Amino acid sequence: ENFEDCSLGEIIMNNIKLSKYSKPTPVQKHALPIVLNKRDLMACAQTGSGKTAAFLVPVLNRVYENGPPAELVAATSQNQGRPYSRRKHYPVALVLAPTRELASQIYDEARKFVNLTTLWLSFMKWFLVLDEADRMLDMGFEPQIRRIVEKDCMPTCGTRQTLMFSATFPKEIQILARDFLDNYIFLAV
Ligand code: AMP
Repeated sequence: ENFEDCSLGEIIMNNIKLSKYSKPTPVQKHALPIVLNKRDLMACAQTGSGKTAAFLVPVLNRVYENGPPAELVAATSQNQGRPYSRRKHYPVALVLAPTRELASQIYDEARKFVNLTTLWLSFMKWFLVLDEADRMLDMGFEPQIRRIVEKDCMPTCGTRQTLMFSATFPKEIQILARDFLDNYIFLAV
């Protein structure tokens, strides 16, 4: 299987070529069609499996294919008078990770596929990603995660698309998956 078989758009395909990834890892191969089909995903995958690109590539593919949500463009140009061209600066995903180091690695991985812009958290739409969810819970971050996910600016479960990655799938992760994901597909690699 190749990235060519994954029905990705032209721009992201070009960026993948530039990243020098010749073919998808198993978690990428299986996660890509699920995320592209707009399904919520609970994936059990280890560090080193290529799990970061497994969520970044389909998320960024959506950015390149569709642009930002239409209502967001309308709201900003009417209410705040922002120029239409600013639309490409709004975020479409919030990725939560257990450590600053991992967040920085995710950022580096994203830079391979896109040039990031400013982050505008209050306009967050579309995607919520929880990376290394079991580690975040081990570190005691469940209250903080729940506080963020339940924020008013966060699209509700079923409106947003939620992707959760975890090396293990104990009871606490199953509960988080039940609470945060909508009719999700379970993937173990
Ligand atoms: P991760 O599991 O996301 O931490 O990725 C582990 C390493 O594999 C990182 O250095 C990635 O840059 C690299 N990587 C991810 N996907 C691929 C791929 N399809 N081909 C080659 N290397 C990859």
